Amino acid sequence: MIVFDLACTCGFTFEGWFQDRQDFEKQQSTSFIECPECGSHEVRKILSPIRYQSPGSDMYSQPQQHCTDTVSREDAEKALETLQKFVAENFEDVGADLAKESLKIHYGISEPRNIRGVTTDSEEKKLREEGINLIKIPMPTSNKGVN
Ligand SMILES: [Zn+2]
Repeated sequence: MIVFDLACTCGFTFEGWFQDRQDFEKQQSTSFIECPECGSHEVRKILSPIRYQSPGSDMYSQPQQHCTDTVSREDAEKALETLQKFVAENFEDVGADLAKESLKIHYGISEPRNIRGVTTDSEEKKLREEGINLIKIPMPTSNKGVN
């Protein structure tokens, strides 16, 4: 799934969930997107970083407007594949140094960037105590991915 921040001409902003960018463009061009506040179709996308959500993750708050369609297993698998590809291409693999690097970035010692890797349970607990939340997704190569 892909999340876009959307804004209506009435000033209301909300999150829209789409399968992918094409799905968003299709829905926008057919005026399928409706402002939950005033019902207008004059909705545009706010330029913002795209956030991905791993299936089953409850780390993000629920969208204000969510789709009533049930997500099929196939769609969920496709979304996971997209996520895995995104992480593999955009996140630097620091392997077992993930906890160390996360802390360095947290305290401004290292350049802020997207990193991925593996942690032990105790490292993860320590990070959480520091206010760093890890997003865990299953990766196709079990020994190299995010745990
Ligand atoms: Zn509106």
